[in-house]
Amino acid sequence: MTPTRNPPVSVAIVGAGPAGLFAAQALLAQSPMPVTVDVMDRLPSPYGLVRYGVAPDHPTIKSVVSTLHEILLTPGARFVGGVDLDRTVTRGDLRASYNAVVYATGAPADRKLGIPGEELPGSISATALVSWYNGHPDAVGIELAAESVAVIGAGNVALDIGRILTRPYAQLAATDIPTSVLSHFAAAPVREVHLIARRGPEHAKFSTKELRELGSIDGTSAHVDPRDFATVPGTADDRRVRANLAVFRDWSERPACSSERRVRFHFYEKPVAVLGDGRVEEIQLERTIVDASGRVTGSGRYRTVPVQLVVRAVGYRGMPVADLPFDSTAGVVPNIAGRVIGPEGVPLPGEYVAGWLKRGPTGVIGTNKVDARETVASLLDDWADGQLCASAGRPRLEELLRRRGIPVTGLDGWLAIDAAELRMGAAEGRARSKIADWKSLNELAGAVPRC
Ligand code: NAP
Repeated sequence: MTPTRNPPVSVAIVGAGPAGLFAAQALLAQSPMPVTVDVMDRLPSPYGLVRYGVAPDHPTIKSVVSTLHEILLTPGARFVGGVDLDRTVTRGDLRASYNAVVYATGAPADRKLGIPGEELPGSISATALVSWYNGHPDAVGIELAAESVAVIGAGNVALDIGRILTRPYAQLAATDIPTSVLSHFAAAPVREVHLIARRGPEHAKFSTKELRELGSIDGTSAHVDPRDFATVPGTADDRRVRANLAVFRDWSERPACSSERRVRFHFYEKPVAVLGDGRVEEIQLERTIVDASGRVTGSGRYRTVPVQLVVRAVGYRGMPVADLPFDSTAGVVPNIAGRVIGPEGVPLPGEYVAGWLKRGPTGVIGTNKVDARETVASLLDDWADGQLCASAGRPRLEELLRRRGIPVTGLDGWLAIDAAELRMGAAEGRARSKIADWKSLNELAGAVPRC
């Protein structure tokens, strides 16, 4: 008798960013469970926040793309672009077509400040600004005509923005920022960036490497008010905090200089209103008091700073995905070690989460590797226990998409976009020039509706 071979377990991963791709890597690297992995994205390009979130002047961080690309080349893996969960396919479609689904759609929304004037023209989210200079096809154009900018928040996104706004144009022009966006930076007169942190230097979430980098930009100087050090502890247990304090102390001891551009850190201040007649003209700040547990309260002492652009970089926010359970307070899908937990408090068979949708918007790219391994370990245990979904396998979804006329794209499509961006970059004397419009991306990727 010929032995019967079980078909491979089919897994759909929704979201081709680092969380989704590291989950694919962990699935393809294990041996007990034969597997095929479809990594889907609504865009014709993979890599998610590595392509659209990592700052364009950080090519070293972006170089993780070569690892992510290798994952897509692994036998058993497939990239499927143009799959928009809830618009072109439903959660039910995925559950019926695959033995397991891993949702890794990140935390795409921004958090709000909840203060008057926040909606004035000239008050924008970091998500909007970052998407725009990174060439996301959904990004809306931004008016950069500001001499003075307030960036709210003391995290790495605020640092990225402070750095991009104060880098000399020649340095930005060497990055992959889309040509259409670069012209705005060429004309941008940004002279001063105020980085507003509601707590002290010891509470800032900055990575020290990125912090130091801000102080080493040609023509830009970093400043800290020495009075903000009055209550700062001399040292700290945490190595990163200790190193950050040393950087801030150094900057606070430097004499004021007349550099071309300045980044000023303002600690113990929170925004209470954005003011202006029809568009941003000032930001009103309140001095804060931080108690021993790190809790912030207002002191009742206010001042205003003239600014023409306010960027809130106060963290990302997860969004509900299809009709999956969602914890709107934490902005995550309720899960235990990556298993999606249903309303009855028990895991939903065959459904998993990874990345920011699982743990919230924290950590660096590498954090997703460990996170994905945990999710995949849960999936493998469930497979061993016979807990995955029965499914008709890959062909069912393909047939469904074909019948709906959904123009999905593959790895070849992405490679065509990639090659076009490299060609455009070479013509402009830089490594890459990003293509930022849906029409060009879809045409290059061959996203033609099928009948
Ligand atoms: P984040 O690290 O959570 O920082 C958010 C900042 O906003 C905090 O300083 C927070 O202050 C402040 N904030 C929150 N609500 C506020 C309010 N209402 N008013 C004033 N300030 C407020 O978020 P992020 O900067 O968006 O970064 C997200 C993740 O991506 C992080 O893990 C980050 O390290 C990572 N990332 C890494 C890099 C890199 O490695 N190069 C680059 C970019 C992003 P409190 O502390 O007082 O809450």
